[in-house]
Amino acid sequence: MSKPRLLVLGTGGTIAGAAASATAAAYRPGGLSLAAMLGELAALGLDAELVGEEIARIGSQDIGFAEWQALHAACTRAMADPQIAGVIITHGTDTAEETGFLLDLTLPTAKPVVLVGAMRPADAVGADGMRNFANAVKVAGDPQAAGRGVMLVMGDAVLAAQDARKAATASIDAFRSFPRGPLARVTPARLDWFGPPHRAEQGARYAFPRSLPRVAILTAGAGMDAKPVEALLGIGAKGIVLAGMGQGNAPAVVLEALARAAAAGVPVVRATRVDEGLVDRHVEVDDDALGLVAARALGPAKARVLLMVLVASGITDAAAVQAAFDG
Ligand code: GLU
Repeated sequence: MSKPRLLVLGTGGTIAGAAASATAAAYRPGGLSLAAMLGELAALGLDAELVGEEIARIGSQDIGFAEWQALHAACTRAMADPQIAGVIITHGTDTAEETGFLLDLTLPTAKPVVLVGAMRPADAVGADGMRNFANAVKVAGDPQAAGRGVMLVMGDAVLAAQDARKAATASIDAFRSFPRGPLARVTPARLDWFGPPHRAEQGARYAFPRSLPRVAILTAGAGMDAKPVEALLGIGAKGIVLAGMGQGNAPAVVLEALARAAAAGVPVVRATRVDEGLVDRHVEVDDDALGLVAARALGPAKARVLLMVLVASGITDAAAVQAAFDG
């Protein structure tokens, strides 16, 4: 059987990071070109033919609409190209959950799209990038990987982009998956899926936005007042995600200000600043009365991505926004 041909889209990040020495803490994300990375990968004798396309060479903290648009366009071309079996995106880990979830919302599931990163730069002692990449090749080249949405491969785990979250700043095992656990375990030698494809032959859930509206994340803190909400409305926020306390709570004055924003047509989603857990409607906050939306399983970063896509699609009504978060 011929090897699957995989499109590799490079964006930078630690997986392409170069340090001054193998033991130094400081390094430059994206210092290594995609061509150089693919050269090193060729030496591993991976079971795939890799075709590279460099989208950017940046730390993912600087990623934004232009790079997302280019990634979406390249993935769309790959979906239509019968020669390409799957797509791998090398990405910094800081915003991998945002890029992954945005693409998950706006791409069909026909072919696997896999984000991969690393926590240690390519030239550091104990670098994890090549192993993660070899794992990503195993996933993206597997026909069983289609129909599961966009995935993130890190530390021998395959996570759905919708569930993935960076939970540690520096350890190799930096990502968590909520509310589902990993979809599969992978090593360069083995790939074990824990269930069948759960989104087989799904079309894109949303059109890729022509631009992204300003949606802000507001973190709640004890003793805060309503001024930050007013400031966000003052700079033209088109949506607000509350990174609330506990199950999406905030001081009463803040909730009242958020209710005024919602009444003025700026959708407000209550997420949590807590690491993990659901935010449901009507636990302590009267969402119906205040016109607010509960983020359910999405943390603030991914809630912001979904809210940007919804607002860009003209979906701002609280019930319709809630239905999207429930889905
Ligand atoms: N801040 C950089 C980025 O997200 C490096 C972190 C990493 O890739 O792990 O691209």
